[in-house]
Amino acid sequence: MSGFRKSGALPLLISDNISCSHGFSTREGGVSHGDGLDTLDLGMGTEEDVRENRRRFASALGGDISNMFSAKQIHSNIVETVTKNDLGRHFECDGFVTSEKELLLTVKVADCVPILLYDDSGVIGAVHAGWRGTVSGIAVSAVKKMISLGASAENIKTAIGPCIHSCCYEVDIPFVRAVKEAEYGSELLTFITPAKTEGKFYADLPSMNRHLLTLSGVKDENINICPSCTSCENDVFFSHRASHGKRGLMMGGIILK
Ligand SMILES: [Zn+2]
Repeated sequence: MSGFRKSGALPLLISDNISCSHGFSTREGGVSHGDGLDTLDLGMGTEEDVRENRRRFASALGGDISNMFSAKQIHSNIVETVTKNDLGRHFECDGFVTSEKELLLTVKVADCVPILLYDDSGVIGAVHAGWRGTVSGIAVSAVKKMISLGASAENIKTAIGPCIHSCCYEVDIPFVRAVKEAEYGSELLTFITPAKTEGKFYADLPSMNRHLLTLSGVKDENINICPSCTSCENDVFFSHRASHGKRGLMMGGIILK
């Protein structure tokens, strides 16, 4: 995979684009069994299993589970700026940014788009972009929040992790209508193409997010998209579509050391 490689005892996908500790988990390396959760489920199963799996994920990134930020995700464009004083707080949002070291920013996905962002001035971000978050511009919100912490758009490097690609993301006319009405919808219709079946379309979420990042001033060469489709490769990744909802959750995580 161009620019992405697997690393360590716990297989994580790492982007060559980002030079701080980060990674996207796969299904491998955890303790969960059954109900589509095998094995590295980071959010759906029993509290005990999820905690052990998260501990392993944090440790593979050189971090500690007690410094992990993980929100209740609400398919919004809300990105929160966090410091160590926010550890333990309950968050309802779909992204985090920080300029503090040792804080592990995470997002949970199983087809949705995980985006990790890095500026070498010492600002990082993590974003969960489902289609609603994508078309309401969560990628744009994340870049704005990073700039307010001292980052500059042309310096930001991003990795778009494994997610559902257009090959498997068939949508219908109500979806297209909802995109049209969304804040960034008119910019993004070009990434929805007709499928063979009448009234069906394919939506390209990773390319939509790439486009929004470039609109925010991120250079195209600084955006790295993982070519893996979570639904095509459901043996490697959790996929909501491929499993008809019977699946665990993966994480993208990033931490400044
Ligand atoms: Zn696919």
